[in-house]
Amino acid sequence: MSVGNLWIPAGIGIGSNQDDPVGQVRVALSALAGLPESRLIYTSSLYRNPPMGPVAQPDYVNAVAILLTRKSAHELLVDLQALELAQGRLRDAELRWGPRCIDLDILTYGYQVIDEPGLVIPHSGISERNFVLFPLLEICPDLPIPGQGSVSGLAAGLDGTTLEKIPVSMQDSIQG
Ligand code: ATP
Ligand code: CA
Ligand code: CA
Repeated sequence: MSVGNLWIPAGIGIGSNQDDPVGQVRVALSALAGLPESRLIYTSSLYRNPPMGPVAQPDYVNAVAILLTRKSAHELLVDLQALELAQGRLRDAELRWGPRCIDLDILTYGYQVIDEPGLVIPHSGISERNFVLFPLLEICPDLPIPGQGSVSGLAAGLDGTTLEKIPVSMQDSIQG
């Protein structure tokens, strides 16, 4: 169900650590810009960050974006999963938190709180993930994370030193 003519700001988390991660994140940003009924309004820098979780794997490249969307949160998730599929993500073959060519998460959707088996908003990892909060800090420090405060408040409790901003001038020469 769409939400009529209301444009809702949605935070999107982007990550890749396979098959040219910088290129994958850039393709995802372009694809987000082309989504119907949505407008890409802000994008963060790209950041390199060590992987999370128990699986040994390459570093990630992460970024975040803010869309204005007329899609519902559920419709937006379907759109993001279609973009993941179009970029070659093979969900069935993956380990949990293992390597992937592209991962697109809904971080926030306006002031909504959703807690369903297939959709949790704000994203369940947001308050612990420096690779989400520091890129958000760059583009929208005052973004409310419903029930948890603001981006700047949450980021203040985390270590951002593992994140390495990838200068735009370097992005074309980096592979992997
Ligand atoms: P994490 O969610 O901890 O970042 P992940 O991104 O690796 O882990 P996936 O395998 O990409 O997890 O997705 C698992 C499921 O998470 C999806 O099938 C989707 O239904 C569900 N999900 C729940 N909330 C969200 C959300 N806010 N954004 C994207 N997917 C979500
Ligand atoms: Ca994720
Ligand atoms: Ca995901």
